[in-house]
Amino acid sequence: KLHNTILELKGNIRVFCRVRPLLHDESRSTEGKIFSYPTSMEASGRQIDLAQNGQKHCFTFDKVFIPEVSQEEVFVEISQLVQSALDGYKVCIFAYGQTGSGKTYTMMGRPGHPEEKGLIPRSLEQIFQTKLSQQPQGWKYEMQVSMLEIYNETIRDLMSTNRSSSENGTPGKQYTIKHDASGNTQVSDLTVVDVHSAKEVAFLLNQAANSRSVGKTQMNEQSSRSHFVFTLRIYGVNESTDQQVQGVLNLIDLAGSERLSKSGSTGDRLKETQAINRSLSSLSDVIFALAKKEDHVPFRNSKLTYLLQPCLGGDSKTLMFVNISPDPSSVSESLCSLRFASRVN
Ligand code: ADP
Ligand code: MG
Repeated sequence: KLHNTILELKGNIRVFCRVRPLLHDESRSTEGKIFSYPTSMEASGRQIDLAQNGQKHCFTFDKVFIPEVSQEEVFVEISQLVQSALDGYKVCIFAYGQTGSGKTYTMMGRPGHPEEKGLIPRSLEQIFQTKLSQQPQGWKYEMQVSMLEIYNETIRDLMSTNRSSSENGTPGKQYTIKHDASGNTQVSDLTVVDVHSAKEVAFLLNQAANSRSVGKTQMNEQSSRSHFVFTLRIYGVNESTDQQVQGVLNLIDLAGSERLSKSGSTGDRLKETQAINRSLSSLSDVIFALAKKEDHVPFRNSKLTYLLQPCLGGDSKTLMFVNISPDPSSVSESLCSLRFASRVN
């Protein structure tokens, strides 16, 4: 029996593990379960055990969500974090995992099933509700949305109207990332839209999702090979007290974390996989350098970490979902994901 050392994360970084249910076409004929939950099957559990070749591997996270946990129950656990963006914090929520492990389900939900909507639409509903409820106290908020994709270390604007005319980014657009002294990020040429309701953002999200899936047929299922970054900027002013807040909520559906061998990579695909591996490992490097309060945090090693730099350091708040597939054939990828998230070597 193998017990991995657990890195207890400190400060403003949390890791939640979510195991999705078996899908209809997945084998149910395994002897026993791959996952066992020491304290019955409770959503409040923090531990996940995984057996491979007769060895048991145990991991502990801030929370472990078993397959039965609904989108609504997951949202309850993060709503406080979403709320803190309205209080002026910079927040990042990531979904990490192999393709098919439930990242997009967690973030967006299941198309055509409103009761299964994910944490992006739920967050927006909560934010706009709070915006209304705080009006009597004098609070006025302005909100802006941008959505982009990072593919092969290149930024693509998902709200640019002429995006579909090009397969390799919009010609002439630079998308240069700049941070000012107060931690505000500007990406040149990136479309930023003022938004006034959750419905409006839902419409924009839908458009962006279509713009991603256009890419899917044209470009090798690019949506699983790229990072999706949704950003909501919040500017709040209290007209009776003159208080001001500036918060940011970043919701990130990461590229599939599956390793090289499985994707049978040569040529472009190899380059793609290397870019993904590099940016995921630099994300891990950054998060763990921050958790350990190291002096040097290697933000500049990838587009993603550089883009999010002001929202990862300082007094910002970060949550990582590690999405896991219960499919027995995914055990070794699952082990990799759990190790990534607990940084066990
Ligand atoms: P990924 O984005 O990581 O590639 P998806 O989110 O697309 O994975 O999930 C793969 C499939 O599993 C989809 O059909 C999705 O609807 C389903 N799925 C994922 N998580 C859940 C869940 N918690 N409950 C029900 N179905 C889920
Ligand atoms: Mg996905």
